[in-house]
Amino acid sequence: MKRERVKELVNLIHSLAPRDRKVKIMNVCGSHEHTITHAGLRSLMPEAIELVPGPGCPVCVCSESDVINAINLSNRDDVILATYGDMLRVPTKIGSIRSSGGNYKMISAPHEVLKIAKENPDKKVVFFSIGFETTTAPTAALLEMGIPDNVFILTSQKLTPEIMEVLVKDSEVGVDAFIAPGHVSAIVGSKAWKVFPEEYGIPTVVAGFEPENLLLAIVKVLYQLKEGRADLENVYSGVVRPEGNRKAQELMYKYFEKADVNWRGIGLIPKSGLELRPEYSNVNAKVVFNLPEIKEEKIPGCICDKVVLGKAYPTDCKLFGTACTPRNPKGPCMVSLEGACNIWYRFGN
Ligand code: SF4
Repeated sequence: MKRERVKELVNLIHSLAPRDRKVKIMNVCGSHEHTITHAGLRSLMPEAIELVPGPGCPVCVCSESDVINAINLSNRDDVILATYGDMLRVPTKIGSIRSSGGNYKMISAPHEVLKIAKENPDKKVVFFSIGFETTTAPTAALLEMGIPDNVFILTSQKLTPEIMEVLVKDSEVGVDAFIAPGHVSAIVGSKAWKVFPEEYGIPTVVAGFEPENLLLAIVKVLYQLKEGRADLENVYSGVVRPEGNRKAQELMYKYFEKADVNWRGIGLIPKSGLELRPEYSNVNAKVVFNLPEIKEEKIPGCICDKVVLGKAYPTDCKLFGTACTPRNPKGPCMVSLEGACNIWYRFGN
């Protein structure tokens, strides 16, 4: 049944694809890129359809300054750094959290820092909280639960709609349509993307993670383009509601506020991230440890910045699969399972 449905959708895509121009459809979610690559969806597309990975990997865009500050904290005798596994191997000009050999613990969910803090009452436990809206909400929930005096938060939280606005304003990217991320949409609601069709005339479809769901999203995009429309549609409506998860949004903005933040390889983007509100500066590691903003240095040969912005494919990088592999990542896009270079290396393109 699934196979028949896939065939039907692929046939529709071929019949709807324009004959006279290319259509660049961007996803902004590492899990979408995983499905597209793993299921070989690109190979099923007509020549006119280009499926482009965008900034869907939080590890890839976490600023080098934040990672270096995390490394330096982990090298203090009085600190234990706790963060997600992918962050441990992210390369910087001074190495990675793991290679620096400091005090760190890998966690898979924010509440695990409570156990670490309890077992180490004489240490300051710094939770390096990174990611998009999907990880900000659990960090806010941790703060709502209440944290012990020896827990601090080092934030590197990014906002998805804001980076997408940067992309649509960049003529070099040339996005024709967006497939909006299912997980982030479950938090922010499908309405968070209405700016793209309404203000920029870009068809936008919220999708889930099954190949059929992504193919259906592509069909919806192509119908819109054929009919000269730009609308917001949702083919993941079993999970994503227009208003999203209001409770999670309230919690996020109770503890965090929008801030100008650095994106790795891209630079400072106004109001594109979340920082702890001033009233929580007693738990803000940047304030408590007086952390500096460190100037980023580009990794020689790495074009991760272009890959993240949809201006290049991983295979355009001369280091891809040779000097840079998942075992020996030279750039952040090769580290995380959500990074485009890592995904393309594992599954081919
Ligand atoms: Fe950077 Fe490695 Fe990707 Fe090249 S293959 S862009 S070096 S992460």
